[in-house]
Amino acid sequence: MRRESPYPMVPIDEAQRIITAHVAPLGVEEMDVLRNTTDGRVLAEDIYATDPLPDVPKAAVDGYALRSADGVAPRRVIAEVTAGAAPGLRVEPGTAVRVMTGAPVPEGADAVVMVEHTEEQDGMLTVRRALSAGDNIHTVGQDIAAGQCVLMRGTTLGAAEIGLLATVGRVRVQVYRRPIVAVLATGDEVYEPDGEVFPGGVRDSNRYALMAAAREAGCVAVSLGIARDDLSVQRAAILDAVDRADVLLTSGGVSMGTRDLIKPLLAELGTVHFGRVAFKPGKPTTFATIDRPGRASPLLVFGLPGFPVSSLVSFEVFVRPALRRLQGDARPERPRVRVTLRDPIYPSADRPEYQRAIVGWAEGRLVARSTGRQGSSRLLSMLGANAMLIVPPGTQPFPAGAELEALLTGPLAPFDE
Ligand code: AMP
Ligand code: MG
Repeated sequence: MRRESPYPMVPIDEAQRIITAHVAPLGVEEMDVLRNTTDGRVLAEDIYATDPLPDVPKAAVDGYALRSADGVAPRRVIAEVTAGAAPGLRVEPGTAVRVMTGAPVPEGADAVVMVEHTEEQDGMLTVRRALSAGDNIHTVGQDIAAGQCVLMRGTTLGAAEIGLLATVGRVRVQVYRRPIVAVLATGDEVYEPDGEVFPGGVRDSNRYALMAAAREAGCVAVSLGIARDDLSVQRAAILDAVDRADVLLTSGGVSMGTRDLIKPLLAELGTVHFGRVAFKPGKPTTFATIDRPGRASPLLVFGLPGFPVSSLVSFEVFVRPALRRLQGDARPERPRVRVTLRDPIYPSADRPEYQRAIVGWAEGRLVARSTGRQGSSRLLSMLGANAMLIVPPGTQPFPAGAELEALLTGPLAPFDE
């Protein structure tokens, strides 16, 4: 048995740089973004408005279109115009037109008075106070100018973006293709969560957690099952991914044990770019590429550690940004913020550590509380966490009240205690 890994320990930022150098958007496809699920999809083209919005001057309120120069003198109401009616009427001095919100403002009128500020009797309108030109009129192009770029390539489609695409009449647009992410669990002790229990066995949580994480990152997840700790079984599983995936995530088998076979197999089938990271939890995290003749891009392989917390934290730090870059996301990284510690935090002596925390807004700042014991097998330490504290190595605890940087992995939590 080897005593020392042959792979040098690379710093976190160096590992991230190496991964990014091997990642480019996979390709684009056209889709109907209004009638299909677009969760996490990224635009692959800039979107311009052809027409101004609104296209004609429109009433911004229910009321009367009139000429402001007429002041407060009574006016004759000559017609009613509702939203969707064709323009064409004209408001002459001394007259007004009853208009509904969204109705085209008739020519000659330069203001709309709110119905609440008027009285109408026997076809005569009185207003309580004079109006200024432009009052309550939505001018042409006020919301969107003709030719304006409303969405940029690299934007992730959410509700506002979908609304804008509908507004400018763009139904079919170019979006980046979703990566296909194959997930393989390894280990003789690992078994299906609904399989028969056996002494010393471990239910496979990693494959299911990683598939869910890949889907949350906008990918299509494919299961490659559980591979025994056997070279030919694991080789076949990796070659399966070479055939049908863009990215392969493996769990387990990357440490120093005699049955840790993933690194030697990746070195045999492709190129290992790093095999250890100066980072906790997840030191043995491995990144490799496997070239495949005739295909535009190599298979990207992330060998993630077996311990459940290590695999998910490594996913967050190394895999997720890569998966978002593969989809052309212009903002692939989680937001990085400064937080104040509510509890003391104990660092690792020799490696930067990503500790799970719950961050909320309290007394005018972001405050972090710990999720409890940070052991790499304690999946409960991920529960409820919306942040990862970036804890520099050291021997002294960071006391309550100290500040640290954190990655926000979810929405801010309520902070009521
Ligand atoms: P390994 O890196 O293969 O030595 O795995 C380290 C530890 O992680 C094992 O002893 C298991 O307890 C645990 N483990 C490995 N694979 C899984 C998995 N798929 N799901 C849950 N725990 C796992
Ligand atoms: Mg193992």
